[in-house]
Amino acid sequence: MHIKREVQAVMQALETAGFAAYAVGGAVRDSLLGKEPFDWDVTTAALPQQVMNLFGDNAIPTGLKHGTVTVLRGEERIEVTTYRRDGDYADHRHPVAVEFTPSLSEDLQRRDFTVNAIALSWQGEIMDPFMGQADLQAGLLRAVGDAEQRFEEDALRILRGLRFASVLDFTVEEGTAAAMREKKELLRQIAAERVLEELTKLLCGRAVRRVLMDFSDILGVVLPEILPSVGFDHRNPHHCYDVWEHTACAVENTPPEPILRWVMLLHDLGKPAVCVYDYEAGKARYGGHQAASVELAKEILPRLRFGSESTRRILRLVEQHDRLFDPTEKSIRRMLRLFGEEDLRALIHIRRADNLAQHPDFQQVRQAELAACDEVLEKVLAEQQCFSLAQLAVNGRDLMELGCSGKEIGEMLDALLTAVVEEQLPNDKESLLAEAKKRR
Ligand code: ATP
Ligand code: MG
Repeated sequence: MHIKREVQAVMQALETAGFAAYAVGGAVRDSLLGKEPFDWDVTTAALPQQVMNLFGDNAIPTGLKHGTVTVLRGEERIEVTTYRRDGDYADHRHPVAVEFTPSLSEDLQRRDFTVNAIALSWQGEIMDPFMGQADLQAGLLRAVGDAEQRFEEDALRILRGLRFASVLDFTVEEGTAAAMREKKELLRQIAAERVLEELTKLLCGRAVRRVLMDFSDILGVVLPEILPSVGFDHRNPHHCYDVWEHTACAVENTPPEPILRWVMLLHDLGKPAVCVYDYEAGKARYGGHQAASVELAKEILPRLRFGSESTRRILRLVEQHDRLFDPTEKSIRRMLRLFGEEDLRALIHIRRADNLAQHPDFQQVRQAELAACDEVLEKVLAEQQCFSLAQLAVNGRDLMELGCSGKEIGEMLDALLTAVVEEQLPNDKESLLAEAKKRR
């Protein structure tokens, strides 16, 4: 197994100074899974001050209270934390006191899941008292020690667990899953920012559909707005899943980017509230569900402390998720003018995913249409066809020279842009100025 050279050097330096040191946590887990780890954590018997002394100018006291020193080595920032034993927990999240310990196994014992409690020395020797490697092999997520007690101590572990299940495509071991359910109400006490962080990672995971399906009851504690969708029969020929499974499937079918995945999670939550059964047609209708979903999203996003820019984008995309557009250059220019490139690409992804989560009979035509939209979009962009004021061959100053002033300038520019987007006029200065003169 490959340990990053810089990390190895830091561990070696600690050992040479007489302190045991091991890589631990996500980096060990991910490299045992054959993935390139993102950031490395080192756990050591050295006390924080000893780590500070040893690495001098290359040591930053990032979290001395918790025993963490960041050591700089080359381009790497390595978190070096003293072996810890957590005392009693307050508020189901924070240990009242952090005690340092000379024992590696005590440090591993405080860690959340067996696959996160494997230590690796710089020579590649593995310490695995909780048999995390066997669980890695089996794809199992199992709490270290008594699962209920571990979730009682720190309820965030419940969401971390679901996040790892989604990201790693692991099964939550039966006893651990039962303990998660037993303790799920404690999630109400976890800070919104932490909930958001875990939910977003969960949503971007590979096994998101399965985790959303299997753990909607737990997720419903932090997202009660999802619960009416669970098991809500669509009673509509376009659909072969209930609203929640349709949602889960649509989430899975979008690229794993936070905004897109959140939009898909939220896009149909308003359906149960607006559902009307049309007896004559023999099917349910969901008129206005986009706006109803927006209303629910307006509760959820601020509660989870989403930033205002992300909130704005997500609300708009939820509202517009059913918007129709044709694979023609004119229609794509109109859409680009309204939404910009980023959000139009997002809308195409959203419509594609939404449709893939519907009855297969309705997929072929729509998917082909969306593929055509992609092609036309690339063409419009490559040819730098005009869809924005910035691209228009005249600007405000040109219109002022014609004698326009104040509000008239903006209105005239908009009218000219419309004429260009609609192919009524070419985007050249002469034609546009002539048109402007005519319109005054
Ligand atoms: P990733 O960095 O990929 O999100 P990770 O497992 O490295 O996953 P971190 O939050 O970086 O997660 O934490 C590093 C390690 O610290 C974990 O692997 C785990 O051993 C331990 N840990 C983190 N948070 C907790 C917690 N709430 N309870 C118990 N142990 C934890
Ligand atoms: Mg980590």
